[in-house]
Amino acid sequence: MLYPNELRAHYSHATVQKMVGVERFELPTHCSQSSCATRLRYTPLFVLHTLTNQYALRGGRIILALVAKVNRFIRLILLHLPSFAISFATFKTLCGNNTMTANILDGKAIAAELRQTIKTKVTARIAAGERAPGLAVVLVGQDPASEVYVRNKRRSCEEVGFYSESHDLTANCSQESLLTLIDELNAKDEIDGILVQLPLPDHIDEEAVIERILPTKDVDGFHPYNVGRLTLKMPILRPCTPKGVMTMLDKTGQKLEGMDAVIIGQSNIVGRPMAMELLAKRCTITVCHSRTKDLEQKVRNADLVVAAVGRANFVPGEWIKKGAIVIDVGINRLDTGKLAGDVHFESCKENASWITPVPGGVGPMTIATLLENTLYAAELHSQAD
Ligand code: NAP
Repeated sequence: MLYPNELRAHYSHATVQKMVGVERFELPTHCSQSSCATRLRYTPLFVLHTLTNQYALRGGRIILALVAKVNRFIRLILLHLPSFAISFATFKTLCGNNTMTANILDGKAIAAELRQTIKTKVTARIAAGERAPGLAVVLVGQDPASEVYVRNKRRSCEEVGFYSESHDLTANCSQESLLTLIDELNAKDEIDGILVQLPLPDHIDEEAVIERILPTKDVDGFHPYNVGRLTLKMPILRPCTPKGVMTMLDKTGQKLEGMDAVIIGQSNIVGRPMAMELLAKRCTITVCHSRTKDLEQKVRNADLVVAAVGRANFVPGEWIKKGAIVIDVGINRLDTGKLAGDVHFESCKENASWITPVPGGVGPMTIATLLENTLYAAELHSQAD
């Protein structure tokens, strides 16, 4: 058999047949070298052979072996893919079900600590020859809830060593008589703070009453002067409930800056000043109210939720983003006589990182902050004397 020289130099006849394919190529015994070469030229391996040398072919075989190995590896992966998928899904499910039980922001304990600090400062003031801070609490009418709040405020004053005065007016007292009382308290040196318990009977203009209190004695922080100063980031006397919330948030040790905060409720005493407090901390604020569209989605996106709606268990746990902070300002009396907040505590605590209980959350902080404001007002008055 005649072979093209290039093949004869390196391979046996059997190898050449293998290389070019027996069916497709039978080398004729007497073919000329040139005609054989012409036919061989059309087979890919011959072309490969003529273009490369023996070493290149060996390299090709190594590459083919590698490709086969990769192929085997891919087949193995495909074979085990279902079990991989199941394992991953199980892992994901486990992560998904990994419920988070929130830390409780214990307002009762934080308030007790704050009262203790105030008491120590009052003792130091008196030891330094200063008078005790004085708070006047004015109650109009006999609303049972207001009576409870007022009683608690008066008791707290005693606990920290304040001087306190109680002024209980009848529900049908005139607005004039209330304003006259406020004028008297404004003029009294031993009074640093005046608190008029809200709501007032319908015949009394609340705004007129609030505006009559001297801004430096407005320990509730409701006077337009104090609200304006808070808005301008120059606060003096800050509204008690939002300020108390800020004290609690401080206790979490969480960096508020940059958080998306959703406040549900836009009242003058909670929602609006709360927004100003959080804005001052560089949170991004969304204030929601009864006309807000898609409240659920807004709450779902929030890192911090403050609920001040006045509707028991209004916010369900599934609205709360995992790890969000939940502050429940609401105080609602259920038919059972029990108190409930505006968020559904049991389900919300499964997603939240921090949550305030009701009772024992924001409520005690509001009263302790009132005392803090009164002490601050006393310090301001002492400096002014
Ligand atoms: P408020 O003056 O009655 O204000 C309620 C707010 O909730 C309003 O802005 C109202 O929107 C909004 N609202 C009502 N229904 C809504 C809904 N379906 N979706 C979204 N927003 C809705 O009440 P508040 O004086 O701020 O008090 C709120 C709660 O906090 C009450 O439970 C109160 O007892 C409690 N609270 C507690 C403390 C404390 O010390 N812990 C202090 C103050 C108040 P509109 O403005 O559109 O009507």
